[in-house]
Amino acid sequence: MRKHELHHAEKTIAVYPGSFDPITNGHFDIIERAAFLFDEVHVLVAQSSSKKPMFPTAQRVEMVAESCEELVEGGHVVVSSLPTGKATVDYATQLGARAMLRGLRTVTDFDAEFALAIANMGLAEHIETMFLIPQPENHFISSSRVREIFHLRGHESVKDLVPEAVYTALQLRKLS
Ligand code: ADP
Repeated sequence: MRKHELHHAEKTIAVYPGSFDPITNGHFDIIERAAFLFDEVHVLVAQSSSKKPMFPTAQRVEMVAESCEELVEGGHVVVSSLPTGKATVDYATQLGARAMLRGLRTVTDFDAEFALAIANMGLAEHIETMFLIPQPENHFISSSRVREIFHLRGHESVKDLVPEAVYTALQLRKLS
């Protein structure tokens, strides 16, 4: 499908893939911005990562959905797990997405994100990678930092970095 063949009246759909282990205020910031730009944003929670995730996929999906409750209820955001054994761009195509969204924090994100965008461009020319930038207070939040601080200092120390649903899950989990 070529870009000029798109009907402008059709629903604009974007995908936002990631590990979300767990979702942070930075991810939520990107989701809110995306929901303002697109009719429907599919947050795709990647199932497998090279290392064992802190939270199982189903719980990560649940925490994203709970954090975005209003947007999900309004039909602006759909949360699901990314099927394994399928290129994200192929799944995005299947969903009718025009854009794949990624968040850019500092310049350190740039190299890896740029390489990924170019690789995806080669796989699916019709899907545009778009980068969104969070507000300054969210620039230094990452899931790995949240996990690290939680393990060292407990849930109270990450309260301001994650949505309520994640804070509750961490509270239940306590220090392991
Ligand atoms: P991945 O494992 O694919 O990097 P992540 O869940 O870590 O998945 O992140 C998904 C996307 O969200 C990536 O594009 C990442 O750069 C972006 N992201 C992560 N944290 C933030 C943040 N604090 N602000 C903006 N974007 C972020």
